[in-house]
Amino acid sequence: MSKELEIIRLRKELTEFSRRSFNRGLVSGTGGNISVRIPGTDTVLITPTGISLGDIEPEINLLMRIDGTVLENPCNLKPSKETAFHLAVYQLRPEAGAVSHVHPPYATAYSNCVDRLPMVTVSAQGVLKEVPRIESAMSGSAELYEYVKAGLLKYPAARVLLMEEHGILAVGQDLKTAYYLSDLTEDTAKIAFLCGQIKK
Ligand SMILES: [Zn+2]
Repeated sequence: MSKELEIIRLRKELTEFSRRSFNRGLVSGTGGNISVRIPGTDTVLITPTGISLGDIEPEINLLMRIDGTVLENPCNLKPSKETAFHLAVYQLRPEAGAVSHVHPPYATAYSNCVDRLPMVTVSAQGVLKEVPRIESAMSGSAELYEYVKAGLLKYPAARVLLMEEHGILAVGQDLKTAYYLSDLTEDTAKIAFLCGQIKK
């Protein structure tokens, strides 16, 4: 497939998984952002800022180089406020194919309270292995970028990180994997919460 056709295909796929994330309740309002690497390149597609993941259309996603240069911006929108830390993931993890940053309620609640998400199911233990917490800061801030970078270096094996008082960051080889990791993380957090209720 030519690179142009691959970009068209991935614009559609990014739209599909953005909407699925919103419809699944992994994010609300205009929060969250998702990106995907054009395979074999240092370019990514990323969702724009200020638009709900539930309302993403293929043509509004921006094509960027991982050094931050915008290459294609057909609708003249701003890239996600959290673009910098998405790009840090691609720079630090060459195997990363997609990044899902969402604010799911149960996992985010755990990010306020614990250093790592309890791995309460065999699928969590097998697939996620560990979901450690990193510090977080205001969306778009330089501090947030530094915290994410530090977290990726500190936990090289973690596929998902809890971002304190903020949400989660999932890194997959493709969009489907990043989405499944986010979904499994939220499901694990729900089950951990229920376990805590039952034990009381
Ligand atoms: Zn966020």
